[in-house]
Amino acid sequence: MTTTLPAYDDVVARYEPVIGLETHVELGTNTKMFCACPTDFGGEPNTRVCPVCLGLPGSLPVANKAAIEATIRIGLALNCSIASWCRFARKNYFYPDMPKNFQISQYDEPLCVDGYLDVEVNGELVRIGIERVHLEEDTGKTLHVGGSGRIHGATESLVDYNRAGIPLVEIVTKPVAGTGALAPEVARAYVTELRDVIRSLGVSDVRMEEGSLRCDVNTSLSRPGEEWGTRTETKNVNSLRSVERAVRSEMLRQAMVLDSGGRIVQETRHFHEDTGDTTSGRSKETATDYRYFPEPDLVPLAPDADWVAELKAALPELPRLHRRRLQQEWGLSDHDMQSVLNAGAVELIEATVAAGTTPAAARKWWLGELSRRANEAGVELADVGATPVQVAELQGLVDAGKLNDKLARVVLEGVVAGEGTPTEIMTNRNLEVVSDTGALTAAVDEAIAANPDIAEKVRSGKVAAAGALVGAVMKTTRGQADAKTVRELVLERLGVS
Ligand SMILES: [Zn+2]
Repeated sequence: MTTTLPAYDDVVARYEPVIGLETHVELGTNTKMFCACPTDFGGEPNTRVCPVCLGLPGSLPVANKAAIEATIRIGLALNCSIASWCRFARKNYFYPDMPKNFQISQYDEPLCVDGYLDVEVNGELVRIGIERVHLEEDTGKTLHVGGSGRIHGATESLVDYNRAGIPLVEIVTKPVAGTGALAPEVARAYVTELRDVIRSLGVSDVRMEEGSLRCDVNTSLSRPGEEWGTRTETKNVNSLRSVERAVRSEMLRQAMVLDSGGRIVQETRHFHEDTGDTTSGRSKETATDYRYFPEPDLVPLAPDADWVAELKAALPELPRLHRRRLQQEWGLSDHDMQSVLNAGAVELIEATVAAGTTPAAARKWWLGELSRRANEAGVELADVGATPVQVAELQGLVDAGKLNDKLARVVLEGVVAGEGTPTEIMTNRNLEVVSDTGALTAAVDEAIAANPDIAEKVRSGKVAAAGALVGAVMKTTRGQADAKTVRELVLERLGVS
């Protein structure tokens, strides 16, 4: 077998990729799926547990209505049909962080089926089919101690059941074929859009870094005209960027295997953030390995049609349509809107506009100064340290003539550093524009007296030389004067206005 990876362009010229995505979303309900334990992230290990989520004998689950409602809303937002009757099922397998030795999930009777989500890739709409959306419970967490954090080399393993039983929605796409070289970008665009849809519903905080949105990526390759190839499943890909990288890396690896006459093994693989490639996990179980059967401790789910209709009518405007409306309201070209999207600034600009700023000014701050600071600090724009309300207040001070652009930047620096509101910082650091003409005139006269040669040049008609005098005044007023006013005063005092 060869060991060098082929070039990507070469791979997509000879093979057709088919991808599929399975996404798990932890719902933001107050309590767990089948008991009343709280669901907050973190906490001392094993403090948010009870007999039900610890799987103690004789304990009985009761389904969480809020979780069912949230799942139906996700299904509706993804254009799915909602089952009028369905059941939970036991998925049997052993794992130390799953105390019952089975997970309550859904098998052949999912709550939502057969929908789609439209995503935009390079300005083109791609429709991703949704196979199913079902409800299940999360497992606990195992912590391997005394090594690198992986089970190999660890001296002991600890189990925390705080997460066990948190409601988990699994969203499975239909196989996505025909995307060719764009397959990695389509995968990323889908997960991004799905995240935005779920966030707009307010049912989960969908934070990949905290694991409330987790993604498994299926990839296969086939030669044109042949049957689809064997797929592999890359597990728990933890960022949007990694979704794209995982597909690309798996396409290259599979092409290398196929080129050398090898065979793709159906298996799970692990994605490594550091190297960007995947390594073999376990061979993939088939559904029969889990011995699914209907959960005998729970009644079937039969959502009332009127209730489902009510939930459907109350869905919020979905992100793609919402973005399109904002783009029109803000008067942006596709290219400018794309920059806003890439910067992760849509909601921030929207909130800044809602706080009373023009779209142009809001966009200027978030895409300019604040994006630059976020990049420097290596944080998301939303975590840069300034809020939309503060940005709107800052722009208000500029509009009122109390700050010029330069001073506003200094004030913003204080906001990001947590010194207070823009008005407080302006006052405390004495940054307000000097608009008192008396004080400015004195400063102008001083500058003229200190620079007689320049003053003479201006008097004799070389008006461009006035710039040096304006500069001198700006310096003595520490940049707090309005340059245009200063210039007018200089010319007036030298009798050339
Ligand atoms: Zn519990």
